[in-house]
Amino acid sequence: MKWARYLYSHGIRRDESIRELEFPYPYRQGQRELAVSVFAAFKEKKRNLFIQAPTGIGKTLSTVFPAVKSIGEGLGDKLFYLTAKTITRGVAEETFDILREKGLYFSTVTLTAKEKLCFLEKPDCNPDSCPYAKGHFDRVGDCVYDIIHNEFGITRDVILEYAKEFRVCPFELCLDISNWVDGVICDYNYVFDPDVRLKRYFSEGITGEYLFLVDEAHNLVPRAREMYSAAIWKEDFLLIKKILKPMNEKIGRLLDRCNKELLEMKRQCEGYRILEDVRFFITSVMSLFGEMELFMEKNSEFGDRDLVLDFFFDLRKFLNIYDRLDENYRIYTELMSDGRFMLRFFCVNPSKNLQECLKKGNSTVFFSATLLPVSYYKELLSGDQEEYAVYAHSPFDQDKRLLMVGTDVSSRYTRRNKSEYRKVADYISKIVSARKGNYMVFLPSYQYLKEIETILPERICDGDSVTCYAQASHMNEQERESFLMEFSQRAG
Ligand code: SF4
Repeated sequence: MKWARYLYSHGIRRDESIRELEFPYPYRQGQRELAVSVFAAFKEKKRNLFIQAPTGIGKTLSTVFPAVKSIGEGLGDKLFYLTAKTITRGVAEETFDILREKGLYFSTVTLTAKEKLCFLEKPDCNPDSCPYAKGHFDRVGDCVYDIIHNEFGITRDVILEYAKEFRVCPFELCLDISNWVDGVICDYNYVFDPDVRLKRYFSEGITGEYLFLVDEAHNLVPRAREMYSAAIWKEDFLLIKKILKPMNEKIGRLLDRCNKELLEMKRQCEGYRILEDVRFFITSVMSLFGEMELFMEKNSEFGDRDLVLDFFFDLRKFLNIYDRLDENYRIYTELMSDGRFMLRFFCVNPSKNLQECLKKGNSTVFFSATLLPVSYYKELLSGDQEEYAVYAHSPFDQDKRLLMVGTDVSSRYTRRNKSEYRKVADYISKIVSARKGNYMVFLPSYQYLKEIETILPERICDGDSVTCYAQASHMNEQERESFLMEFSQRAG
């Protein structure tokens, strides 16, 4: 009763607040048209909309606002804001906060990867190893009830705070919360990846009144290709045979059979080879997988179990993807320069797989600053050239743009030397010294960047008052985030 009561009264208050909600700022040029097209797309259910809009127009607000309005009009019940990167999830959270400050009564949760939420050094979700797993189900109901009554923007930090207080698993907690909130902000994975997607919303036979906003949608093409492709490596079969043969003769023989068949493919492969069919090999993999499944169930502890488990999951993914093979796939083998040999099911066009998920909801809006040519993205994201597309112009006044060309410098490879770097550094110095502000410098390579970074402090006229941050190559997500954080802190 108490949960039903919550849903009922929350829904009424939410819809009332949405009716009164106004766009929080004066519209920028093009922003109103964008918002109107998003609303129209949601109104006409089962439609995808593609939006190409330059940076600076306020895409997040122009899509979130009409999406929220649509929910108020009964055109959807749950909003999924899908992103490729953590940093854009932050922008979405801020946008909902802005609307909540204007009176919106609408709760959101941000889903974060298990590894990033887990209290243990490495997830080991077993009640004997993890105190948060032990008794989790006894406490999680109270925790969810508490959090949905007290919080509206449920971010990673909020989840961690409550999970600690109630001693429950933070990852499972955030998944459970998603049932009770109006909006879910998450990575593409949670909707599209066949291994990770949220079964409660997207498994077979389940549909809902979902609205999808896909941020930076150009990223979805390569990400989806990865999600729906699978590969296996010949060398893994040999390695796993070494581990398992002494324990299980039969699995040893089956691994041997697969390895021999892969060896035959390897002999016929010079670099790359496209294959039409691998039915014979799949039969061998299926037999192996069946035996391994029994073995893994019976043997919960042995040396190198983690390695075997990874291999087992690779096989499972390989077989699952095999079931999806159609004209959108290519099967190929590849011999790597280091001698390793791979068999891959490559999803060239993921639109069919993506649409299978998106059709579980009402409508989808794909938006990005780099969605051109839009016909390419239509082909690969929805498979339908007839879909609607909207192009927004840049809101910035071109007359306020100053373009200057330094004709005495060049970034051509042959001219990369100390004296050239000094000249470039002097240009940067002159510009940043002329007026206090924030400047961004883009350079042609990390090597070039390093050279400039080294000499810049000595070339800058008033070095003391200038702080310089440089991006490093191979930054991991956490390093990238703290690098970007420097700017938001300074901006305040
Ligand atoms: S149950 Fe949750 S907290 Fe415990 S190990 Fe697994 S992910 Fe980590």
